[in-house]
Amino acid sequence: MPGPSTQAVIFDIGGVLLDGDAPMPGAVAALARCHRANIPFLLLTNTTRRSHADLHLALQRAGLDISSAQLLTPARAAAAWLAAHHARGLLLVHPGLMADFAEVDAQPIGQSVDMAFSSASTHHPQWAVVVGDAGEFFTYHALTAAFRALMAGAALLSLSDSRYFHTLGGLSLDAGPFVRLLEVAAGVTSIALGKPGAGFFQQAIAQLGIAAAHITLVGDDLHSDVLGASAAGLQTILVQTGKYQPSDADQLPLGAMLAADVMTAVDQILTG
Ligand SMILES: [Mg+2]
Repeated sequence: MPGPSTQAVIFDIGGVLLDGDAPMPGAVAALARCHRANIPFLLLTNTTRRSHADLHLALQRAGLDISSAQLLTPARAAAAWLAAHHARGLLLVHPGLMADFAEVDAQPIGQSVDMAFSSASTHHPQWAVVVGDAGEFFTYHALTAAFRALMAGAALLSLSDSRYFHTLGGLSLDAGPFVRLLEVAAGVTSIALGKPGAGFFQQAIAQLGIAAAHITLVGDDLHSDVLGASAAGLQTILVQTGKYQPSDADQLPLGAMLAADVMTAVDQILTG
């Protein structure tokens, strides 16, 4: 159970700290409280519609005082994966995310890919299709181009396995269903670089330098946040804001807690 044993916190962003570009109620105070208590924390997001730099700026404008290094995004993890594997990225991502791939070999998926992958008999294992929340750019044309690349042997990198996210207009499709579509169509398995992928949590744990059992995750997504973090050995708190649905409370893993909002979650962490 979260309590005095918590030495560090990992916060989700959307629906926990930010609602669109506005701070969630209590978010500014919650981070300030962590600062005062000398509790280190990181922000771990599956939001893949804007670059690391843009998101950091939005957080600062919302009054959330964090450093660039405290913000971990799947796109940065994907760029590092491409560099480490000497692979060329075929990006099926929102245009706002392109800046995160400026320093690696990558290009938007499109017409040229149709040409490059017109023959499924040719193998291109040095290519990787990168799928984020592309929103309205998930066109039939782009998905078919991605499918052809996968059939030709490209790897599939998933920036988010989340099924949906919460916006002012209601629940909206995230990248997860589109990753599943491509997996089924091409008969491949994706490499998860966002939550709930274990690698993303391990990266955060390593950066904090604290044992997983002494870190508490605060998130609004039962699957990507709470179940993913729990599988990685973290303590977890599901906040009843953002995309939270009452039925989520019935599926909490052992030891997970509920909190009305992020300030209440930080109170629970600091007071035990
Ligand atoms: Mg969220």
